[in-house]
Amino acid sequence: MKVILLGAPGAGKGTVAKLLTALDGSVQISTGDILRGEVQAQSDLGKEAEGYMKAGDLVPDSLIMGMMEKRLQQPDCEKGFLLDGFPRTIPQAEALTELFGKIGITFDMAVNIDVPKDIILDRLCTRRTCENPDCQAIYNVKSNPPKVEGICDKCGAKAIQREDETEEAISHRLATYNEKTAPLIGFYEDKGMLLSVEAVNSDAVIEAIKDKLSL
Ligand code: AMP
Repeated sequence: MKVILLGAPGAGKGTVAKLLTALDGSVQISTGDILRGEVQAQSDLGKEAEGYMKAGDLVPDSLIMGMMEKRLQQPDCEKGFLLDGFPRTIPQAEALTELFGKIGITFDMAVNIDVPKDIILDRLCTRRTCENPDCQAIYNVKSNPPKVEGICDKCGAKAIQREDETEEAISHRLATYNEKTAPLIGFYEDKGMLLSVEAVNSDAVIEAIKDKLSL
């Protein structure tokens, strides 16, 4: 499947993407995960992106588009992909439409995962992420804690609170989402490409996607 996942930070895009990859071998492409890997590696891209990310600001569209143009042409995308955290602005969505045309990709739909704000806030404040850039497993101190506090079950690296998941950075990220990313819902709706799912539970989102794609 070739699906764009929309939704506020903490809506569950990453969890849904991971569950969907198991269905048909499509790959999860999370721009946040790629960028965090670049920051850890202190690559040129990582050094440029780091300040924006720490502040909870968006990384400039030009950097993101260059990165995604390469990523979408890698052979593992042929089976399908779940875009998680991209596009994030109307200019990125317009550039993606152009890029899809240029490299001959037709996508299935954009899915908006609609979760109430109080649940989003609670999830983000209690989320822990594995700091190993090749793992980045997600935990929640209340609902899904690692077996050993602070240690990733999967790879043994530290499970930490991300620097952009302090209360201040979270409220800034949510404001940025409302201003810059939420308009994408209308963008894809106008193109007749939107499925909106009101769900706090990832399984319900998966079922709605399977239904729509007759999987
Ligand atoms: P995420 O893990 O998706 O919440 O992304 C973490 C951070 O990476 C965001 O707060 C942005 O600073 C940056 N980021 C991720 N995806 C994008 C994107 N498509 N455009 C701009 N910045 C992004």
